[in-house]
Amino acid sequence: MFISSHFDSGNIEVVRAEQADDIRLRIRKDNQSDFFQWFHFKLFSQADVTHRLIIEGANTAAYPDGWKGYQAMASYDREHWFRVDTSYDGENLTIEHTLEQETIYFAYFVPYSYERHLDLLQAAQQSSWVEQEVLGQTLDGRDITVLRVGEPAEGKKVIWLTARQHPGESMAEWFIEGALHRLLDDDDGVARLLLNKAVFYVVPNMNPDGSVRGHLRTNAAGVNLNREWQTPSVEQSPEVYYVRAKMQQTGVDMYLDIHGDEAIPYNFVAGCEGNPSYSKRIETLENAFKTALLQATPEFQTEFGYELDAPGEANLTVASANVGETFDCLAFTVEMPFKDNDGIAHPETGWSDVRSQQFGYDTLAAILAVVDNLR
Ligand SMILES: [Zn+2]
Repeated sequence: MFISSHFDSGNIEVVRAEQADDIRLRIRKDNQSDFFQWFHFKLFSQADVTHRLIIEGANTAAYPDGWKGYQAMASYDREHWFRVDTSYDGENLTIEHTLEQETIYFAYFVPYSYERHLDLLQAAQQSSWVEQEVLGQTLDGRDITVLRVGEPAEGKKVIWLTARQHPGESMAEWFIEGALHRLLDDDDGVARLLLNKAVFYVVPNMNPDGSVRGHLRTNAAGVNLNREWQTPSVEQSPEVYYVRAKMQQTGVDMYLDIHGDEAIPYNFVAGCEGNPSYSKRIETLENAFKTALLQATPEFQTEFGYELDAPGEANLTVASANVGETFDCLAFTVEMPFKDNDGIAHPETGWSDVRSQQFGYDTLAAILAVVDNLR
C-alpha cells in the first residue's frame, strides 16, 4: 500500500500507511504560512477492502467548522467525483471507503488542474470575441492571464470576473469555465446581448502558483492575495499588483470575485455595504442583481451568508470591497460551498464541479438583468 501526492495540486503527508483500517495522514501547510485544509492524493491498495484514512489534526486546519457535515470527494477516473463516508470527531477527519479498484484519488474538492487551466485559455481564444493578455509573471514564473471577451467601445460597460485568489477553492475556476462556455456561445441570446452591451475581463485563475503547489489560501510566498488589494507589490503579490493595474486602465463597472466557503453549505454573495462610499445607487444595484440571480437559479439564496459589515467598516484589503470603493461600482464576492447547497442537497456528489459550472452559466443572466443600469 502506498500514497502519492507529487502531482498538480497534490497535498498530503503520510504519517503511516501499513494497515488498511488505520492509515494516518496530515495535511501540509501552505508554503511560509499556517493555512492548510486542501488535500489531494492517490491511494494504491487493494480492491474490495475497506480503508480508513485518518487525517490527524484536522481541528487545527484553517476552518475547523468546514469539517462539520463535510464528506470528502473521491474519483477512480479523475473525471467523475463522488462523496465518500467522512466523519469528524473534533480532532481528526476520518474517511472510510471500500475500494472498488486498486487505486483511487481523494481530494477536498474536485481539482481544477493547471493543464486544464491552460486548455481553457486556448479554447476561449478560438472564439473571435476573445483576446488573451499576459499581465505579468507569478513568483514561480507562471503567467497571470486575463481574457478579454468582446470589443471595447464607447458606452459599453466593463465587467471583471476573477477567480481562485484562494487556490484551494477550485470550484471558482469551474464556475468561470461555465460562465465562459455560455459567454462564448454564439447561439446563446443572453451572451450575444451581453456582448453588445459590455466587454468582459476574465481572470480564470488569480493564483496559479498556489493551485499547482496544493495550497489552500496563499500564493508561493505564503501571501493571502485577498488581503493585498490596498497595497499589492511585485515582490509579494504580483498577481494582484498586475490585475489591479489593468483594472485601472480599463475602469470597472461591475466586478465579481469568485470563491468557495469551507463552512457555510449554501451559495451566497457578500457586497459592499461597509464601504465608505456605499450609496443608495450601489444598494439598489446590489438588490437588483440578487433578485435577478434568485430568478436565474434556485442554487442561489440570500438567507445564509456572512454577517453584514457595519457602515464604513469594510476591509478594503479585500478585492471586492477595494474594487467597489475604487471604481464606485457594483462588486460582490461570490461564495460557493465545499459541502453541499443544503437548500437542494445532492448526497451523491454534494456541491460539485458540474453544479459550479452551471452556477457560472446561470449567473450571466443576472448580469444581463443589471447591465444597463451599472452607470
Ligand atoms: Zn476564498
